[in-house]
Amino acid sequence: MEPYFNEDHYIFQEQFRRFCRTEIAPLVDEAERTQTFPRRLFPLMGRLGYLCIRCSPEFGAAGADKITDVILREELSRVCQGIASSWSAHSHLSTFPINAAGTEAQRRDWLVPAIKGEKVGAFALTEPGAGSDTKALASTASDRGDHFLLNGSKTFITNSPFADFMLVAAVTDRKQGYRGISLFLVDRNLPGITVNKLDKEGIRSSDTGEVFFEDVRLPQESLLGGKPGAFHLIMETLSEGRVSVAANMVGLAQAAYEAALNHARERVQFGQPIGRFQAIAHKLADMAANIRAARLMVLSAARLIDQNRSCIFEASSCKLLASETAVRVAREAVQIHGGYGLMTEFPVMRYLRDALVYTIGEGTSEIQRNIIAKQIGL
Ligand SMILES: Cc1cc2nc3c(=O)[nH]c(=O)nc-3n(C[C@H](O)[C@H](O)[C@H](O)COP(=O)(O)OP(=O)(O)OC[C@H]3O[C@@H](n4cnc5c(N)ncnc54)[C@H](O)[C@@H]3O)c2cc1C
Repeated sequence: MEPYFNEDHYIFQEQFRRFCRTEIAPLVDEAERTQTFPRRLFPLMGRLGYLCIRCSPEFGAAGADKITDVILREELSRVCQGIASSWSAHSHLSTFPINAAGTEAQRRDWLVPAIKGEKVGAFALTEPGAGSDTKALASTASDRGDHFLLNGSKTFITNSPFADFMLVAAVTDRKQGYRGISLFLVDRNLPGITVNKLDKEGIRSSDTGEVFFEDVRLPQESLLGGKPGAFHLIMETLSEGRVSVAANMVGLAQAAYEAALNHARERVQFGQPIGRFQAIAHKLADMAANIRAARLMVLSAARLIDQNRSCIFEASSCKLLASETAVRVAREAVQIHGGYGLMTEFPVMRYLRDALVYTIGEGTSEIQRNIIAKQIGL
């Protein structure tokens, strides 16, 4: 039994697990090899109601609670973290702010098609000079009366090579410091936008790009919510995102653990399955215990979100613990596989590469520790 699960949560978990096994698992090898997200998943998942599930039913989404969201994320990441990352950039990062603060027209034109999987979103915050230090953005959007003029560049942007729209953070008023950072809904096909796809080692089945904006004319209606100043909304988006990423990491760690457990049962050396050696059995015991601890932390943070309670400490703690656990579990899974762990035929090295992305992405482990330190009064 899982804490905070009701009957509907178990039903959803079973349904979505089946969907992942039948519709997603067969696409993973090709997506990883070609470093290309399988595009047909967006309309398919949209039709089945599996995109942007936390968004409001008013716009056609499921309006799911956070517990359901973490269930979905764990199942998706058990199958493929790259695909889960693209799903998340679309279903959370690029759409949560529109759901929360978009104008009626922005919700109609971008959010509703995103929920259906007809338009794909990307969230463009990080810049070459502004990674952990999000207040150091250099991109500007200057108000020219009937339009904004967007200039600057972004990097490491998930989905940008094929997205239809991007939620772009840019400075509208430098004098106001971070309060002068605003969000824009940008049609990716506007003149002046170029995207270079990046070649990378982790989450290869998710397309990542660097984006350049050169005198891009944005209609006035592009300003999210019609109001400048979106820094708090960006922080709110990232804060819930920490619990989300932690759930992804629990799923990834679970997949690595299951692969290692199977291998330990099947691989025979010195006349017995290697799992009978205490050195291997203890590794697996540590994996199981640490995954359980991370899962319980994720569920308790999700519960706080569902109760509309503040969870800054819990969100950073579970992001830190789950991503570091995923790296350790995946590392041990490779060790338990011996030489086979290095072969592409086995998924464990992929799990390790993918886990390493998330002690960095959506706030590094060091930044989580900084947040936790502040929360405990340092
Ligand atoms: C595959 C991938 C996909 C991504 N997708 C997106 C996306 O869709 N949208 C988006 O906007 N961004 C995205 N990112 C960016 C990601 O959020 C950043 O990489 C992350 O925030 C860290 O920034 P950085 O890489 O510039 O590292 P830096 O900030 O340069 O950090 C380098 C090192 O210094 C440490 N450090 C920095 N500041 C401090 C401090 N104050 N105290 C202690 N240590 C510190 C960091 O912890 C880290 O170890 C993605 C990144 C990756 C790798």
